Amino acid sequence: MSFKDILGQEKLIRHLKKSIEMDKIGHAYIFDGPVGIGKKTTATAFSKEIFCKEFGQDVCGVCSSCLKIESNNHPDLVWIEPDGKSIKNHQIEELQQDLVRKPYESEKKVYIIKDADLMTESAQNRLLKTLEEPPRYVVIILISTNFNRFLATIKSRSQIIKFNRLQDKMVQDFMHKRYGMDADETKVFATFSNGIIGKAIEFKESEDFQTKRKETIELIDGLLSKDQLKIFDAMAFFDKYKDDVYDILDLMIFWFRDILLLGATNSEQFLINMDQKDILQKHLYHIGYEKMVHMIETIEKTKKDIKANVNFQLATEIMILHIQEV
Ligand SMILES: [Zn+2]
Repeated sequence: MSFKDILGQEKLIRHLKKSIEMDKIGHAYIFDGPVGIGKKTTATAFSKEIFCKEFGQDVCGVCSSCLKIESNNHPDLVWIEPDGKSIKNHQIEELQQDLVRKPYESEKKVYIIKDADLMTESAQNRLLKTLEEPPRYVVIILISTNFNRFLATIKSRSQIIKFNRLQDKMVQDFMHKRYGMDADETKVFATFSNGIIGKAIEFKESEDFQTKRKETIELIDGLLSKDQLKIFDAMAFFDKYKDDVYDILDLMIFWFRDILLLGATNSEQFLINMDQKDILQKHLYHIGYEKMVHMIETIEKTKKDIKANVNFQLATEIMILHIQEV
């Protein structure tokens, strides 16, 4: 794993590489961005570049440092993860005890704190003392999904490195290369991953997502068939997928959006569910374009209601009946 394995974050990688080349590595970084975007991978690659003994244009991958990082065994690279639901005071205390000891076999010592935005306030205040007077060899990388949770004093003493979502095209190319998917299929994954490469991989590699998607399409097909019995199937379906309800509702919204698009443009070019265009066409033919807007609004409203803690069963039942009545 090295920088060249990381997709779509060229700008920040250039910045990190430059800091090594110019011998201006910071003492503290906040790597901020959504889960699955490549923050930990980048932190590992950055450490590798810092430690690699044969460092040239890229890391060598074969020196003892590179190999030790690869096998998670480098004495000057320390990973810290939440103890329960947060990073606690005692963990930062341990870090501070450790960092007074000089690096064992390199010039630097790197600490990577996972879910660092889950650090308690008192742990943050403790860490602040280190950030105020860090030993010259120390590099601390705080991995976070919401950097607003850090105290202003922590933020002001760290370099904030923002990870950006990828363009759909980039995710599509990646899925094509890695899995040999055709263009229709890559589109589904690019859309659902919302520009997060780790999510696209997770979706692809979890049979779960594939099943969910298939069953959601069947559910919609059943409800639109006007078979009253399908209402009960639908209720059982939502009960089963209660924990994944937002995924399911998104799948439904994307489905109806596709029908809307198909009706409006008469073109298949922009469809997300391109691989299911026959069923989309059938639904468009049966229901008509105008009612799709209403469907999408209904599902959006259900999403909001569930977020606002409206009774789950009630919210989904109302939605099911709405869809069936159309
Ligand atoms: Zn190396």
